[in-house]
Amino acid sequence: MSTVLVVNSGSSSLKYQLLDDAERVLGSGLVERIGGAGTITHRGPDGEVVVDADVPDHTAALALMMRTCAAAGLDLAPDVVGHRLVHGGARFSAPVVVDDEVEAAVEELADLAPLHNPPGLLGVRAARQAFPGVPQVAVFDTAFHATIPPEASTYAIDADLAAERGIRRYGFHGTSHEYVSAEAARFLGREGRFVVLHLGNGASACAVSDGRSIATSMGLTPLEGLVMGTRGGDLDPGAVLHLLRTGMSVDEVDALLNRRSGLAGLTGSGDLRDVLAAASSGDPRAELALDVYAHRIRGYVGAYLAHLGGLDALVFTAGVGENSPEVRARVVEGLAHLGLQIDPASNSARDRGARAISPDGAQVPVLVVPTNEELQIARHALAAVAPR
Ligand code: AMP
Repeated sequence: MSTVLVVNSGSSSLKYQLLDDAERVLGSGLVERIGGAGTITHRGPDGEVVVDADVPDHTAALALMMRTCAAAGLDLAPDVVGHRLVHGGARFSAPVVVDDEVEAAVEELADLAPLHNPPGLLGVRAARQAFPGVPQVAVFDTAFHATIPPEASTYAIDADLAAERGIRRYGFHGTSHEYVSAEAARFLGREGRFVVLHLGNGASACAVSDGRSIATSMGLTPLEGLVMGTRGGDLDPGAVLHLLRTGMSVDEVDALLNRRSGLAGLTGSGDLRDVLAAASSGDPRAELALDVYAHRIRGYVGAYLAHLGGLDALVFTAGVGENSPEVRARVVEGLAHLGLQIDPASNSARDRGARAISPDGAQVPVLVVPTNEELQIARHALAAVAPR
């Protein structure tokens, strides 16, 4: 039996999951506050353990993970390690076994994803040290979108400059869109033209035609597209120029766009649960924020319906998409002319698996499909090292 360790490394946190080749989760956990006095939370068959420890860096985080797993009776001897990496740029359109050259190429892409690629690489380096000789597979969030045609990935700016600097739409959340669209096809018993709405803290829409991404709302960076927890999505680039010309620094604009926009910018909280609670107690700012949030999504659904030439399913996933009947209802409201409707009882049922929330016999099924990026990374990692 093979086991695969999935590592998702952020700047101050490291998530992990160990799976076997029957896709059973043997253990999982999270190391938080890397860089100082940290904590590991490990979940296994015997429940959850929480341990405080000094975690100066990612190497220490992996060592803590190995000690905690061993203490919980879990022998961490993976046959392959799969890493979530955010930006694969134009080069990596498929998972790749990491060697020094790949590591250097990913490092060069840090310019395009300064918040995400460097911490991902720290995880890769630490795991190469911790598990010498074990293949490490990088799975990129951008890779699923490599099939987007040029007319949808090209920004209409100076073509030479764009080519020189790699400025184009790459798209993100690809691992989630890939997993969810495949699960939706499995649920329906057929491939087709799907719009997948990944609505979490980050959010993106993806048009998937027979398993291939043909359009997505995030762009060069994960700032474009839908309204998110702390990012506002689509914005006239002229607004950025205006802010820069009227006295804000580049770093201030960066902080505004990444942390003080989206639901957080509109209401003070980036957590949709807070916004829903505020709206139900009559806060007009929260009500407006929910309207902007749903309006933006509906615009993408309409655009993607046009690009796909029709729609065979609308699919909700991630924290908000899986858990908020109210947001799902707000998004689909008024789209009956496109064949999209929600059945209120199915929408508010507390089921957890893939399910339909549209009325029986609906023209276009509306689905909720829980995402599982770890499982998708594990599948890619095992496939990348499988004998051909
Ligand atoms: P994710 O990034 O996929 O983990 O999603 C996280 C986000 O999902 C949180 O910030 C919440 O805004 C949202 N969320 C989680 N549970 C609920 C819920 N029951 N209702 C509304 N939003 C939720």
